[in-house]
Amino acid sequence: VTSGKPMKSLGSKIQDLVWDFLFPIKCINCSVEGVWVCQLCLDGLRVNTVFTCPVCRSLTETGLACRSCRNASSLDGLLVVFEDNVLIRKLVKTIKYYFITDLVSAIEPKLNNYISKSPLVEDFCVLVPVPLHKRRFLERGFNQSQLLCDSISDALDCDTRSDLLLRTVYHHRQVGLSSGQRMDNIAGSFRVNQSQVSNLDQTIVLVDDVYTTGATMCECVSELKKAGYKKVLGLVLVRG
Ligand SMILES: [Zn+2]
Ligand SMILES: [Zn+2]
Repeated sequence: VTSGKPMKSLGSKIQDLVWDFLFPIKCINCSVEGVWVCQLCLDGLRVNTVFTCPVCRSLTETGLACRSCRNASSLDGLLVVFEDNVLIRKLVKTIKYYFITDLVSAIEPKLNNYISKSPLVEDFCVLVPVPLHKRRFLERGFNQSQLLCDSISDALDCDTRSDLLLRTVYHHRQVGLSSGQRMDNIAGSFRVNQSQVSNLDQTIVLVDDVYTTGATMCECVSELKKAGYKKVLGLVLVRG
């Protein structure tokens, strides 16, 4: 075996064939067969070249909260990798609900390109995925934010700390709730794992797939700040 991959048994090869026949791999956008997202569609994903304030969305130099929003925002800055469009939303949903790791690999070059150009993200950062509740994790089998961290940490050469922040309250899905309802729903859902707290001068980069109302991320940030961390940034694929 030269490919380095373990040899598959005949049984699992047949299983793959049947699976591919029943559910052929198709581009999630244009349905061309063979890949989860084709190069042509991938080219339609535009990486953001400007940075904006997490609160009022006005242009800022680096993605830090602007002067007038600085006190209103617990999040010090927000980095949004992609411009909002139909494809990136589809992609985010597909990763989240179908656990297609190939899609994360497909966007990895663009993701890392964006990060390498973000002045706020340095080697001194530590990546923290927005955690899922243990029950949700078991239902789904993976955490998409963790996948993103894995994808970024190799290129950045900084650590991911998956055990720093814990989600202690299980919620039913938040889709359809207003911003205020989400805030109420999410309040008190996260806890910092005190045994994992160290090096409070490190900048925390909180990673999630999407930033909608910001309720989840802000709740995470306030817990991290209560624990003593001074600077917390958010990094998301898209802002809804
Ligand atoms: Zn396509
Ligand atoms: Zn602002």
